[in-house]
Amino acid sequence: MKLVPLVCRKCNGKLNGKGALAGVVCPSCGSAYLLGKDGLEPVPAKYTADSAPEGADVVYVPFWRETFDFKITSEKSSGIFSPNYAGPHTEPYDMKIPAFELRAEALQGMAEDSVSWSQKLTDKPPAGARFANISLSETDARKLAQFVACSIEVKKSGTMQALSYETAFQKPELVFLPFRWKDKQLFDLEDRSWTDAVLSIP
Ligand SMILES: [Zn+2]
Repeated sequence: MKLVPLVCRKCNGKLNGKGALAGVVCPSCGSAYLLGKDGLEPVPAKYTADSAPEGADVVYVPFWRETFDFKITSEKSSGIFSPNYAGPHTEPYDMKIPAFELRAEALQGMAEDSVSWSQKLTDKPPAGARFANISLSETDARKLAQFVACSIEVKKSGTMQALSYETAFQKPELVFLPFRWKDKQLFDLEDRSWTDAVLSIP
């Protein structure tokens, strides 16, 4: 058994393992670490560059940003074979998979919505921010991204029975975006709530 010192290599701040199934985020400086075979491995992260909202209820939650080509090779809808029934998906997906504790339906909904999000990002962590730990691995995020892309295609056609596809993923990016956390609910900046969030913050 290996003991992992829970100390930030950048600022010596104390790390807290709450909700950290895949990685921890330094509450002092926002540096991110994945839990690897040999302990904590630093992972480059990006943070929103837009003017950050302020307040004690604002928390930066991690996402795996998956950029990937999703090519449908065949579809079967209502007994008729119709390749690209819903039209070919030509642009690569830019999808953010929630990497913090969230219930399954909310996770899928958020990931589907995220294809229309666009944020300016920076390497610089926001000063004095609160962060949630990382509860989802890169590998699981990639699997979920494929699942969500399929579910988007199924919604387009309405009657799809079978789908085969090919994917080509770029290296994922760890991205932190601000949400509001009040009354055990997560709100986006437009004040839409993700009611079944189960976020646990160190
Ligand atoms: Zn730190």
